[in-house]
Amino acid sequence: MALIIRKYGGTSVASLDHIRRVAWSAASAKEKNNQVVIVVSAMGDETNRLMQLLAEITPNTTGREIDALLATGEQTCAALLAMTLESLGQKAKSFTGSQLPLLTDNIFSKARILDLPTKKLRKTLEAGFIPVIAGFQGVTEDGSITTLGRGGSDTTAVALAAALQADYCEIYTDVDGVYTADPNICPRARHVKKIAYPEMLEMAGLGAKVLHVRAVELAQKYQVSLVVKPFFNGNKQTWIISEEDVMENYIIKGVTLEKNVSKISLIRIPDRPGIAYQILSPLADAAINVDMIIQNASIDGFTDLTFTISKTDLHKATELINEVAQKINALEVQAANNIVKISAVGIGIKNNPGVAARMFESLSAESINIEMISTSEYRISCVIEEKYGELAVRAVHHAFGLDNEKELSE
Ligand code: ASP
Ligand code: MG
Repeated sequence: MALIIRKYGGTSVASLDHIRRVAWSAASAKEKNNQVVIVVSAMGDETNRLMQLLAEITPNTTGREIDALLATGEQTCAALLAMTLESLGQKAKSFTGSQLPLLTDNIFSKARILDLPTKKLRKTLEAGFIPVIAGFQGVTEDGSITTLGRGGSDTTAVALAAALQADYCEIYTDVDGVYTADPNICPRARHVKKIAYPEMLEMAGLGAKVLHVRAVELAQKYQVSLVVKPFFNGNKQTWIISEEDVMENYIIKGVTLEKNVSKISLIRIPDRPGIAYQILSPLADAAINVDMIIQNASIDGFTDLTFTISKTDLHKATELINEVAQKINALEVQAANNIVKISAVGIGIKNNPGVAARMFESLSAESINIEMISTSEYRISCVIEEKYGELAVRAVHHAFGLDNEKELSE
């Protein structure tokens, strides 16, 4: 007997018909002598609909009320699915985040999980019920409803799998898992059957929209085996597992393209202790995330500093940096948002010298200029001009032998 956590995303529960199919499938898993815990997202686009409603009321709504509203999408879906299971002769019980309780801190709209007692759920399972959990939500110590951030039901599912020590966690969604690159950009991209947690974290963080990043972090921390599969189309799936379990011989697992990037350069700033701090701390205070940072070698006591931020923060960041630039007597501030970040991701990077060189070679062969570079154990990233982004993905994908030749000739 296995204990399985199954999470169904919004598209899998978009209508009562969809919910019926989910119920059949959950019932049949249970009849195969498994214990099944279900986590649901809100039906279809419900969360967006609720967000539109609140936007029409007042821009000053507090986080507490926003979360109280948004959490209802998942609650409705959980109760409907539990009813549907009952109508099929199954024993089922729905739980909201507060009923579990899934305890969180009080940072509304991006709350973090503090505790998840399992006693109630274990009892429910032992009594032969299928628990149906409203995902995406929790409750603070003083009883306010919180949510875990958009896409947060994935995180609910992984947290439950960790707390209940489930055998594995299945995420049903509308994509069939992970590809070596976005197939819309790179027609030769291949489907990935297994990927290690740190690779998935890099890919999720870099914009491969398959899983909530926090869900992958939790899965890695508690070694939860995760599988992503489509509920309706096809039988491809991607397992997200530990590095040791991937056991394949490859260096690079995938190539990603991040478009939400812009950069700011400060030209000719004095090269003395405390300058980087002076420049970057106003951004930190404004909760603007800085990604790559480059400082040039200094000449005659002066240097240049360039950093990247997301496009959405460019306006605010430029304002703040213009103020700092005056204070420290920088010669000029330059801002650009016609750039993208292309990254090669893989657990083979740390043990294979020459990976970066191979990536740079493939870009130079296409006459693509690299503006910034950053590397980590699992990733090499280059900032390049936006118009070359897609070409660069195909070139790097090819250079690391990721192209699927067969698929093309078929
Ligand atoms: N319904 C929420 C959202 O769309 C949470 C989720 O689907 O995981 O963001
Ligand atoms: Mg969703």
